[in-house]
Amino acid sequence: MGQVFSRWPSAAPPLAKDPRPGPEDLPAWMLAAPARPWPGKARDLTAAGLLVLAPAALAALGAAAWPGTAAIGLALLAAAAAALAGAMAARTLAALKASEERFASVFERAGISLWREDWSAAGAAVAALRCAGVSDIESHFADHPEELRAILAKVLIKDVNAFTLEETGAPDKSAYVGPLDRLLPPTDQTFVQWLVAFGRGERHFRSEAHIACPDGTEIDTLFTARLPENAAGFSDIVVASLDITEFKRAQARLAAAEVKLARTSRIMAFGAVSASIAHEVNTPLAAITANAQAALRWLKRPAPNVEEAVAALEDVASEAARARDVVARTRSFFGEAAMELVKVDLVRAAREANLFAEAEIRAKGATVHLTAEPGLPPITGDLVQIQQVFVNLLVNAAQAMAGCAGRRDITVGLQRRGEVVCVTVSDTGPGIEPAQRAQVFEPFHSTKPGGMGVGLAICRACIDSHGGDLWVEEAPGGGAAFRFTLPI
Ligand code: ADP
Repeated sequence: MGQVFSRWPSAAPPLAKDPRPGPEDLPAWMLAAPARPWPGKARDLTAAGLLVLAPAALAALGAAAWPGTAAIGLALLAAAAAALAGAMAARTLAALKASEERFASVFERAGISLWREDWSAAGAAVAALRCAGVSDIESHFADHPEELRAILAKVLIKDVNAFTLEETGAPDKSAYVGPLDRLLPPTDQTFVQWLVAFGRGERHFRSEAHIACPDGTEIDTLFTARLPENAAGFSDIVVASLDITEFKRAQARLAAAEVKLARTSRIMAFGAVSASIAHEVNTPLAAITANAQAALRWLKRPAPNVEEAVAALEDVASEAARARDVVARTRSFFGEAAMELVKVDLVRAAREANLFAEAEIRAKGATVHLTAEPGLPPITGDLVQIQQVFVNLLVNAAQAMAGCAGRRDITVGLQRRGEVVCVTVSDTGPGIEPAQRAQVFEPFHSTKPGGMGVGLAICRACIDSHGGDLWVEEAPGGGAAFRFTLPI
């Protein structure tokens, strides 16, 4: 299964590799025999016709060649053969009709929403790309979003079952029948995953999507389908759709409660840590003040006592060193000491972060595209900190574009540059003025109402503690492009 409760593809290997030697790892369906030129029913009718006509033609030929009794016998034989063939053809047609009725009945009576869709254009487009040597379908469409939209417009819903109409209250099938793009909002991230699954030759596809019903209400749905085994199958894919809106709402409520809880416990932890730092630093500070005052008194005497003043100043120096140690210890506690180092697959970390931030990203009308160089090596780092960096950058990008007209695209790109992996999170928002670029990383700098202004400062601290760099540039379209590096 290539796609389980995720908007981005899983790392599972494709299931339907072609066993024959042939073009490099093309899925089996692209290599399967071409589609039969005529649909099944017409073919069966023609075959039946041939069965009936052939004996008649034989009889006519026989009568011409051997007139008389032999011809009569041959004609009788031919008539019997024709009658038999006719009966067989009628039985075949009846069986075909019964099978079609059974399918229609199962389709209509199923207790789940079923859609019949024509993906021929999408299948042909993916096959053309794969045959032209494009293996990373997702990156290709991230670079050519207009191509993706053109393909989407050609995917057609041919039919929906009765359950679909009952569940959504649609008056009739015509509300659904037509191009699929009417139902997918511009923020959709799942369509391209169908194409990725086709290109990988997967046998099944499963994905959550957020769709707009014909009456305008938006719902979360889980699409699941068995993918075709040959090119002809793309003209009739049966997709099951399960409404998971309530489940997603409950999930979102839980996530919001968790975030609130985490925030409260962070504030409490901040309070406790500040109190303990204040307590630890206060003692040396009090000693410093007392010793400095004593030194002044010794020196201000009519006969200054330099020896006592020196002793007091020595105490000042050692108490100051103690205060410095307290600060250093605290920093190391929140820095490397608190890191849990593991091998981190950055592509996976980016995908997971996208899921964590999904609700906020969607609420701001933004779409995330991921492009990753194949075969990126893992880095050693703290997974939670790295995900935190991705989440902060994704959410900031979505928030920055919230008021923008036009497309709101966030592109996450990962490439290897020598001994580091370079990650870029760019958006199509207003960008950041060159004069402001250093300031945004300062703690408590925020231009958002209610913003704390610590997100980017935390990101920079996380990346610094991994031995990398984080900075911001202008994205090609004028938005902001946050880049960070992590050593491999
Ligand atoms: P906060 O999000 O609480 O404001 P951050 O430290 O994450 O704190 O961000 C600091 C500031 O940097 C933001 O208030 C915003 O002005 C600016 N900023 C961050 N990301 C972007 C972005 N993608 N585009 C434009 N401005 C941004």
